[in-house]
Amino acid sequence: MLEKMEILHVEKVIEEFETMTKDAENVQRETLKKILEENGSAEYLQNLGLNGRTDPQSFKACVPVVTHQDLEPYIQRIVDGASSPVLTGKPITTISLSSGTTQGRPKFVPFNDELMETTLQIFRTSYAFRNREFPVKNGKALQFIYSSKQSRTKGGLFAGTATTNVFRNSQFKKAMKAMQSQCCSPDEVIFGPDFRQSLYCHLLCGLIFREEIQLVSSTFAHSIVHAFRTLEQVWEELCDDIREGILTSRITFPSVRSAMAKLLKPNPELADLIHRKISGLSNWYGLIPELFPNVKYIYGIMTGSMEHYLKKLRHYAGDVPLISADYGSSEGWIGANINPNVPTESTTYAVLPNIGYFEFIPLKENVEEQVHDRGDANILSMEPKPVSLTEVKIGEEYEVIVTSFAGLYRYRLGDVVKVMGFHNSTPELKFICRRNLMLTVNIDKNTEKDLQQAVEEAAKLIAEEKQEVIDFSSHVDMWTDPGHYVIFWEISGEVSDEVLKECCNCLDRSFVDAGYVSSRKVSAIGPLELRVLWRGTFQKVLDHYLGLGAAVSQFKTPRCVGPTNYNVLQILCDNVAKTYFSTAF
Ligand code: AMP
Repeated sequence: MLEKMEILHVEKVIEEFETMTKDAENVQRETLKKILEENGSAEYLQNLGLNGRTDPQSFKACVPVVTHQDLEPYIQRIVDGASSPVLTGKPITTISLSSGTTQGRPKFVPFNDELMETTLQIFRTSYAFRNREFPVKNGKALQFIYSSKQSRTKGGLFAGTATTNVFRNSQFKKAMKAMQSQCCSPDEVIFGPDFRQSLYCHLLCGLIFREEIQLVSSTFAHSIVHAFRTLEQVWEELCDDIREGILTSRITFPSVRSAMAKLLKPNPELADLIHRKISGLSNWYGLIPELFPNVKYIYGIMTGSMEHYLKKLRHYAGDVPLISADYGSSEGWIGANINPNVPTESTTYAVLPNIGYFEFIPLKENVEEQVHDRGDANILSMEPKPVSLTEVKIGEEYEVIVTSFAGLYRYRLGDVVKVMGFHNSTPELKFICRRNLMLTVNIDKNTEKDLQQAVEEAAKLIAEEKQEVIDFSSHVDMWTDPGHYVIFWEISGEVSDEVLKECCNCLDRSFVDAGYVSSRKVSAIGPLELRVLWRGTFQKVLDHYLGLGAAVSQFKTPRCVGPTNYNVLQILCDNVAKTYFSTAF
């Protein structure tokens, strides 16, 4: 009875979402008012001369558009235990460490109950829409989720990655239960101190509860692929554990061992069944439905830098649908995937107008329009003019600006999105790329997306040899004259020099940006360099970030490594097995 009462009322959630999105402009106005009223006493807002005004016009006139760097001194004071309100009315007691894959070091951002509530709201919203198309029964979820260490800052605040702060919150478990998506692994595994041991145990728990597993998920799709690549290596050991009912000695943490001991009983039939099923697979195709016969879908963020892993994920998934999770960041959530039926690559995110106040910097024509309007060429140096949520235009690209309930006001998130349509009056956004991830030597501009497409094109050549690009990154080498692009590839197996040379040429040709092509033609940019890395190099990159306090749950391979990200660049450069230079131009 109690169980029934806890189940989420999906139609009600959808109804609330529909009502709210029909009136997005007013909801935004009200949300801004609420944020400014709740935090009006914060020093940051006090100093900006709002004098109690909460309307969008006054807000935009008084509050500057900022980056994380601008807010760092304020956040640092909070981290150090400031006694008066700095960015929020109520004191901040928890800090999130963002993955920091772009800058090479984690960033601190405030976390509070309001942010937790918006997290749950977005989870509930997308679940409601998803469940309409792909209903799950009251079963279990194989969730590859890991918590990073939660530490105390100098000022006594809790600090952990945003996902850790969410997983540790008591509301999270309740919400997962209400969404019938409870993790099949015990807490000791999720919060285990070593992610490799946790990963092994997640797999083991999944196999023990194989009949009950309704979905396989992780925060970012990368972790699911990583988990099943690991299963390829350890499946016989997993079967041995199930057969004997004894956990492998590689799991050393007593808390994890004792939690697992409660689940593990000798089960030779199950071990034989799994052994038979895996042995019957052809090149691991369809591994997930074979192991988990009742799985309804696979769920995790699959757009943006995760798109690279989709090919491998589809291979493991066979005919099980892949559904991308929502769009957000440590700084706050933005939109929910309310169309789970569309192909993963076309996923859009409908903005929830009550979880923050959103503005958008138009990326095209913004400067030209302003020059035209003002007839003043000096305007080129002006700040771009953001538009509000309901003013965005279909087909245009924008950078997202967030004002949150956790002390960020007109904060540039650094993400580029494209408006694909509207759901009622709220826009549906497609994630395009990180704005500052740009390969550029001189007049050329290639984004993360361009890089991904080039890699996809060139990877087709090694696919013919039954090999794949496990992961990739890039760098602009300005030490050579002229500078040139360097692409790092980790490949699954042996590929001939001849084919790799062709891949290198293909990469060079695939950057079709006019600035790049013309510079290459006149040798203002040097030949593209493909560096093939030893197997396991990207694991070392992941380990490096984990050492900095990042969590596997939030890990994103840096797609472009700048010269200041010295340690990662060093790892990549120290692990080069082969180098090729393009002869395409
Ligand atoms: P973090 O810094 O770990 O909080 O990661 C947040 C960043 O991950 C966002 O700013 C995006 O760049 C990326 N991200 C989050 N959700 C998505 C999504 N659904 N699709 C693509 N990229 C995403």
